[in-house]
Amino acid sequence: MNILDQDIMYLPGVGPNRKKMLSKELGIETYGDLLEYYPYKYVDRSKVYTVHELTGDMPFVQVVGRILSFETFEMGPRKERVVAHFSDGTGIMDLVWFNGGKYARQNYKIGTKYLVFGRPGVFNNRIQVQHPDIDLAEKVELSAMGMQPYYNTTEKMKKAGMNSRAVEKLTKTLVGVLKDPLPETIPNFITAPLHLMSRDQALRNLHYPQDTKDLERARVRLKFEELFFVQLNILRYASDQRRKYRGFVFNRIGPLFNDFYQKNLPFALTGAQKRVMHEIRKDMCTGRQMNRLLQGDVGSGKTLVALMTMLIALDNGYQACMMAPTEILAEQHLQSIREFLKGMPIRVELLTGIVKGKKRQEILDGLRSGDVHILIGTHAVIEDTVQFAQLGTVVIDEQHRFGVAQRAKLWAKTEGNTIPHVLVMTATPIPRTLAMTLYGDLDVSIIDELPPGRKPIRTSHVFDNRMTSLYDGIRRQIHEGRQVYIVFPLIEESEKIDLKNLEQGFETLREAFPDFRLSKVHGKMKAKEKEEEMQKFVSGETQILVATTVIEVGVNVPNASVMVILEAQRFGLSQLHQLRGRVGRGADQSFCILVTPFKLSEDTRKRIDIMCETNDGFRIAEADLKLRGPGDLEGTQQSGMAFDLKIANIARDGQLVQLARDEAQKIIDEDPQCQSPKYQMLWNRLRQLRKTNVNWAAIS
Ligand code: ADP
Ligand code: MG
Repeated sequence: MNILDQDIMYLPGVGPNRKKMLSKELGIETYGDLLEYYPYKYVDRSKVYTVHELTGDMPFVQVVGRILSFETFEMGPRKERVVAHFSDGTGIMDLVWFNGGKYARQNYKIGTKYLVFGRPGVFNNRIQVQHPDIDLAEKVELSAMGMQPYYNTTEKMKKAGMNSRAVEKLTKTLVGVLKDPLPETIPNFITAPLHLMSRDQALRNLHYPQDTKDLERARVRLKFEELFFVQLNILRYASDQRRKYRGFVFNRIGPLFNDFYQKNLPFALTGAQKRVMHEIRKDMCTGRQMNRLLQGDVGSGKTLVALMTMLIALDNGYQACMMAPTEILAEQHLQSIREFLKGMPIRVELLTGIVKGKKRQEILDGLRSGDVHILIGTHAVIEDTVQFAQLGTVVIDEQHRFGVAQRAKLWAKTEGNTIPHVLVMTATPIPRTLAMTLYGDLDVSIIDELPPGRKPIRTSHVFDNRMTSLYDGIRRQIHEGRQVYIVFPLIEESEKIDLKNLEQGFETLREAFPDFRLSKVHGKMKAKEKEEEMQKFVSGETQILVATTVIEVGVNVPNASVMVILEAQRFGLSQLHQLRGRVGRGADQSFCILVTPFKLSEDTRKRIDIMCETNDGFRIAEADLKLRGPGDLEGTQQSGMAFDLKIANIARDGQLVQLARDEAQKIIDEDPQCQSPKYQMLWNRLRQLRKTNVNWAAIS
């Protein structure tokens, strides 16, 4: 048996109680689990300071000296503060206990040489350390202490005396018990040229590094390993898919595409749209299934690219389908696509949850007979009852709500092992390194150019005590014929309060704008009602749309030129950017106004500043990733490519992600079937990881 699989109970210092505690609180069952329970910080214990050197703003320090005397101060009933005056000959400092002082007074002796460890502060002009760690100086061998690891423990553990120090004792024992070198997971011929430590060295050093350089090298090795296997898994999946399935060959650019391009297209394509179309056309001719992620900021013209991609399928005798995350969006796609295709012999239908009865049956029949050429819809289109005569291309708008598993359901709609081409579109720009990990099985195209003539949206920040002048501004815009969005936050935890908030706010606004007509839309309304209210705004019947974030994605009203976001502090960056993207779609100057209370947290201030500074979705996404970390980014949970990273951080370790990707790609290119004995160590490890990690199994 591999010693790392040994039950943690057999580790000296762990009895049945601690075994239970470790398992329940930290999920640690084996030696290996404990070894992979990494410290969250380290304190350098190789250096000893003199009292004279200390200042109040140092991190943890240690000093060797003697206690001169104790003093006790009463602090109310049964509370006392105990102070020990401590000196090493260079000066005097105070050791302070607010609790446990009695124990300290009894246990520590005046005149004995102690090693004192803690974080220094200043009180009454004197350095003090509260609740210090104290050891007999002669007992500790300073040079051997190096960096001391700190481990997270839970409240329950702390109550039972299992603090960081206790876990440290266990990891120290463990590292001692593991005499033989730990098994390697990546062959030396891969790690050596990259100057990476062995796994054995890295794991030991991560708990007990000699110095910060050592620690950094250990970290790099383990981060690389983690990212490398994630990439290997993704690329293996993609290569499997390619081997298992073929893609239709659509090499004909026929009359539909050409007619549309020459007669119906109301404007010239942007350079970016042309480039992306070129990439898509190339994909469709290879005989491999296209699996492409199209990223483009809001308003960059993705719908048109989607339409032309679908026309290629039609020209080759196949049908196409486009999925949107909401009914409103699907409806809008239907309208704009019908508008684009006016006068052309193409039947486009809408299928959502609200299409029922006879109409639904008609559409289903049309799909089966091939009479319906393009189907636009919501999740409803992946239901089993929806069958196509010849589905050739699928476009998925706003990827983050469709996971890999749902994409896979589409394969079932075609017979045999030739599957439809897939174009996934997202307006939530994803930084490259994150895309590589989340959507690593997709090729990526980027539209990085907005259609000409757009004026950049002007964004400003307004405190909520300035509403009167904000209302004046809104009135001026409406008098000029423009329309206005006013958004209220609606966050699930406090949905009820928010709804009340929205209702009240709506009344306030109605009173503030007696001359104008207002629409109101929120997530709790019936779909039909919502639709009607939206429609009033789209048609211009109402001038102000008061809404929650349901308008976040896709809604297109070019005449709207003002986006007011109330309580903007409650929105994330990418959400703010999405909302802002609802304006700036026409030729007029547009405005986005972020309203917040006066008092803001540091993070919120940063978010607001970035929004006011730039309209560039990629810059905003990068900033978002840095501020929030990848775990919170939209799409990470639902993506189906989810994974638990123990040590790497996609936001900060971008270069390592790239390196891991490149190395993994080389191996998959050389051994696409994962059979070469040369890489046996890797394939074994991958199998082991996939067995133990639930999330990883999700994509197999
Ligand atoms: P998104 O990428 O957000 O889905 P849309 O496809 O909705 O963007 O396009 C936004 C607007 O820009 C639409 O009104 C669309 O007709 C228009 N548009 C798209 N491409 C061009 C172009 N090349 N030139 C001018 N306008 C364009
Ligand atoms: Mg769109």
